[in-house]
Parts: sequence; structure tokens; C-alpha cells
Amino acid sequence: MASGKAHATASVLLTIPAGMLALGLGGDWGAATACAVGSLAGVLLSPDLDVNNPIHSNYIVGKYMGCVGGAAWFAFWRPYAWFLPHRSPLSHWPVLGTLLRILYMIALSAPLWFLFTLFWFGSGQSLPTPGPALQESLTWGVIGLMLSDTMHYIMDYVPAFRQHRRPWWQRMLRKIF
Ligand SMILES: [Zn+2]
Repeated sequence: MASGKAHATASVLLTIPAGMLALGLGGDWGAATACAVGSLAGVLLSPDLDVNNPIHSNYIVGKYMGCVGGAAWFAFWRPYAWFLPHRSPLSHWPVLGTLLRILYMIALSAPLWFLFTLFWFGSGQSLPTPGPALQESLTWGVIGLMLSDTMHYIMDYVPAFRQHRRPWWQRMLRKIF
């Protein structure tokens, strides 16, 4: 298991390949930026939000959004952490994990937005639908996030990335004795 910090660093480093991927797939510079931002969003929208304790994402939000923002972000992800076992395919598998996390955000934001607008304007409203330009950017952003999540999966499961792995000579000695 790689640490939260290692995952976050990977998401930051992936912004450049993510941008290049978008350009390679025929996107313009706007698409490249959106894809890079999507990968960067992986720092906050980590598959490890399925953990029952605060993770790197929570510390970052707490640092920049203060106590209240941090607590709200932590609370927002509690049902996700309660229902999904850590490293469940539903949170960690590439593509599937990303799509479900996005669905979760939409599903939970909709009632919150309704209550907020009800309180603020006196009539509850459904989530605003993004225009075509924003929809396109969001799609590229999702692709960037998928890239970051795929890297997360590789780092969690490929032994070379695992932390706390004993060096080879220790493993050999343990086998012998
Ligand atoms: Zn993980």
C-alpha cells in the first residue's frame, strides 16, 4: 500500500501526461487543461475516501478550507466509507471506481442543493445542468480523474510500489529460518 502522500504526488505528476493524452485524443488546449485538472482532482477525490478515518484528502481540505470546510468534506464522504469496504472494487477498480464516486457526489449533492436553495430562495431547485462547453470540459476532467485513479490502483496492487515491504534479503532470511 502506498501512502496517501505518494498517491497525491502521483496525481500531481500525472497532470502532464493527462494533458498530453487529451491532446493526443484530438482535444484542444482547453481539453488538455481540463484533463490535467481532473488528474489533479484525484488528490482530493481519492479512491481511499472509502477509509473510515481522515485521509490525505481530508487534511488538505482542512488546511485550505478551515475547520468547517474540512468537517463538511469529511461528513460528505461518511456514507461512502460506511458502505464500501476499503479497497473494494467499487471504489478502487479503474473506471468503475471513478464513475461510482462521481455518481455518489451527484446523488448526495442533489438533495443538499435542494435544501440549500429551499433555505436560501424559498423554493427547492434541482442541480443546474451544465452547458455544452462545460459538459465537454467535465468529460475531459473525468478522463483525467480516471487516469489518476488507475495510477492509484497500480500503486495499491503492484508490489514494487508497496510500502513497508521488507527488503529482499530480509525476506530471504525469513524463508530460510
Ligand atoms: Zn487505495
